[in-house]
Amino acid sequence: MVSAFLDRLCGEPDSALSLIRRLFAENFRTYQRGYAFAFVLMAITAATTALSAWLIRDAVNDVFIDRQMHMVWVFGGAFLAISVVKGFSAYGQTVLLSQIGNAIVASMQRQLFAKVLQLGIGHFGRKHSSHTIKQISHNARAARDLMNLIATSFGRDLLTLVALIAVMVALDPLMSALTLLIAPPIILFMVKVVRRIRTLAAQEIETGAAVIATAQETSQGIRIIKSFTLEEAMKERVARVVRAVQERSDKAAKVTASTGPLMESLGGVTIALVLFYAGWQTIEGGRSPGDFMGFIVAFLLAYEPAKRLARFRVSLERSIVGVRMMYELIDTPPEEIDWPGAVVLDRAEGRIELDDVHFGYKFEIPVLNGVCLTAEAGEVIALVGPSGGGKTTIMNLIQRFYEPWSGTIRLDGHDIRDIAISSLRRNIAFVSQDTFLFTGTVRDNLQLGRLDAGEAELVEAAKAAQAWDFISAMPDGLDSEIGENGAFLSGGQRQRLAIARAILKNAPVLLLDEATSALDTQSERLVQAALERLMEGRTTIVIAHRLSTILRADRIHVVEDGRVVESGSHAELLAADGVYAELHQSSELDVIDDTAERPVAAQ
Ligand code: ADP
Ligand code: MG
Repeated sequence: MVSAFLDRLCGEPDSALSLIRRLFAENFRTYQRGYAFAFVLMAITAATTALSAWLIRDAVNDVFIDRQMHMVWVFGGAFLAISVVKGFSAYGQTVLLSQIGNAIVASMQRQLFAKVLQLGIGHFGRKHSSHTIKQISHNARAARDLMNLIATSFGRDLLTLVALIAVMVALDPLMSALTLLIAPPIILFMVKVVRRIRTLAAQEIETGAAVIATAQETSQGIRIIKSFTLEEAMKERVARVVRAVQERSDKAAKVTASTGPLMESLGGVTIALVLFYAGWQTIEGGRSPGDFMGFIVAFLLAYEPAKRLARFRVSLERSIVGVRMMYELIDTPPEEIDWPGAVVLDRAEGRIELDDVHFGYKFEIPVLNGVCLTAEAGEVIALVGPSGGGKTTIMNLIQRFYEPWSGTIRLDGHDIRDIAISSLRRNIAFVSQDTFLFTGTVRDNLQLGRLDAGEAELVEAAKAAQAWDFISAMPDGLDSEIGENGAFLSGGQRQRLAIARAILKNAPVLLLDEATSALDTQSERLVQAALERLMEGRTTIVIAHRLSTILRADRIHVVEDGRVVESGSHAELLAADGVYAELHQSSELDVIDDTAERPVAAQ
């Protein structure tokens, strides 16, 4: 019945109704009892409001016309009691609806977050992180607002309006009919407003996301901003976005409020008509003034809820936009799903094979053009080659961050598409050039390597990663805070923490994007030593930038233009006098020769 009413109210056939239906189907049941109780309180609020209007007639007649002093006490007491009841029921209903609303936000945010974690890496490349933030924070609140709007509109406002109209009709049916004449022009006007608010609300959300994006990038890139003295430029950029948001919000506010003048004027016209008719009836017709006072009070009290109801569609539209975006995300098919019957690898041997792998990030722009390479269990394979050749892409594909266009990648002979994703990734440790650390303590970050690692294991891993010395020198040891993305640590320390994390993970396969960043000699040696320890007994594929790593590898693959163009040992490749030798000579190979004697750094 409610939906049939909504159908008529929504007017045009769009998906608003189906969104509301869905939101209700998902939430109403859970909070049924809370809503039921809130509706009872709303009914009490409506009844007390109507009662106070109804009592006005007798109050006026008894006190002012009949001049009965004791009735002042009776009515004074009655109005006081009514107000107290109304106050408490309004309080209870507000608290209840807020609590339900907050529970809805929490549950939607959980759902949205779970969904975000199921999306593939590609999604995060396509959408700015601020978009995701907005989806989780703003749009979940839109769901609450929508539910509350509907509950208060159909509970409090509609009940109050009906009760007051009943009072009006009881007092004077003809005059009641007269006042209803103002409804049609208002409805016509609303339909127009709704159309405009729809586009504005969507733009408001988009530009809102732009503000978050700029703030985020400012805070992340603050060093660059300051060192390049980009403060003014950033200010202007922010000012532009903020201005855009302001304009949209101003426009939306104007459109939303544009219903005001019409409603107020029509209200005034009605009051004037009522006064005219009532005055004539009282003076010429001999009716009691109490009747009309009651009527006018009822009419004035009915005006607020009526106005809110008239604006219902407009308010609805603003939340609907957020809810629509929310469901868009919830309905995005999860990109990381296992085939039924996927193999769960407990602990892999670590044999990796790439067989004629073709891949590109964007449609029709190939990055890998038939990569073939094999790493036997326990081998160290070095990938070298010019920047942009596709080395990092190979590592992305091995972790199944993306799916190859064609060709196969195998771990221990299983196509990785047939391996349960989580078990595949449990078997691979990845240390990238740009380490990412979470805000929190050293311990928090290490434990991400293995959640159930005990104190002793953490210390052991930290020692193996050459990280223990600096960790134990920190004031709180393992429990020292490291700041956002390890801001309190040096580059070398961050890397060693990341290596310790990978050591704890103890995966049979290691993917290593060797750091090129100019670490000082001391840190570099420590990081090298930590990596050596990490590589022990694991299949390692390393994007090598250091000659010492290349020399240590069992085999070197030269990757160029998305292909393995040469393979062999350093000596073999130099002797073959091919691409590698050429690159090596022209020093285009982007290799740091760290094999020369160096003064031993003090430990
Ligand atoms: P390498 O690690 O050998 O330097 P990459 O594998 O990082 O090279 O990149 C290979 C090519 O793929 C480059 O041309 C790069 O522009 C492109 N590329 C890398 N990552 C992405 C991405 N996320 N989206 C689109 N193109 C990408
Ligand atoms: Mg790279």
